[in-house]
Amino acid sequence: MDLGLRDKVAIITGGTVGIGLAVAEGLAAEGANLVLVARDHDRIDAEASRIADKYGILVHGVAADVATAEGCNSVISGAQKAFGGADILINNAGTGSNETIQEATDEKWQYYWDLHVMAAVRLARGIVPQMKKRGGGVVLHNASICAVQPLWYEPIYNTTKSALMMFSKTLSTEVVGDNIRVNCINPGLILTPDWVKTAKQLAGEGGYQAHLQGVADEYATMKRFGTPEELAHFFVFLCSDKATYSTGSTYFVDGGMLKTI
Ligand code: NDP
Repeated sequence: MDLGLRDKVAIITGGTVGIGLAVAEGLAAEGANLVLVARDHDRIDAEASRIADKYGILVHGVAADVATAEGCNSVISGAQKAFGGADILINNAGTGSNETIQEATDEKWQYYWDLHVMAAVRLARGIVPQMKKRGGGVVLHNASICAVQPLWYEPIYNTTKSALMMFSKTLSTEVVGDNIRVNCINPGLILTPDWVKTAKQLAGEGGYQAHLQGVADEYATMKRFGTPEELAHFFVFLCSDKATYSTGSTYFVDGGMLKTI
């Protein structure tokens, strides 16, 4: 099935590992050119050249911290210089937290607000005008099931992802007349290298797999983590011209983890 993505330009923040990398590869496999964004320069270079060679597409790497205004400006100008603008923006960069409300500092709250919310705000301000000139586009926000079903140990993550979900809805109404579709995806447990690293820290080399299975048994109805690829298919579909009536929504990809209807 032709998804109509060939020669589109897609920006993926946090595109060098885990979910972002799987989305980048999913779009590349459909012939989209990429702007790959993360902080680690070496990992960007390595993944950019590997993906470009594997799929025969163009990949422009931008080393930037999207939790800062300067970092977002680099992404906006990078897309403009490399491709004359972008058609697709995937706001994916993010990370879990671990704190109590009683003890977390203002600085910590501010950092996650900047990373999870202001990055999406700043990139929308810069990339939506590029999309308008190109006749339309797609913006996807990778929030989390924690936006609506919180985990007790990460109140800052829960709160900022919830704000991102509302931002997505609000942006969708602002740009619907410009042929720009905006949606939010709330994943459940997705097995990325970060989960493996944390599990090894908690349970050691010998016990990390049992630890991860315990997490899956406790939270996911399917009793397993999803793979980044299983989630990426959903992102690619929402970017495609097969999803032209989908905007302003939040979709859960969570193996049955959500406890409400
Ligand atoms: P990873 O930690 O595996 O990857 C995060 C990516 O984001 C990396 O490419 C990292 O590269 C980049 N990144 C992190 N901070 C910044 C920053 N300040 N500026 C630019 N790039 C940054 O994460 P996952 O793949 O697990 O998660 C991706 C998204 O999915 C996150 O938003 C997360 O909250 C969400 N999510 C994940 C779930 C899961 O189970 N894995 C479940 C629900 C939601 P670098 O370090 O080089 O900057």
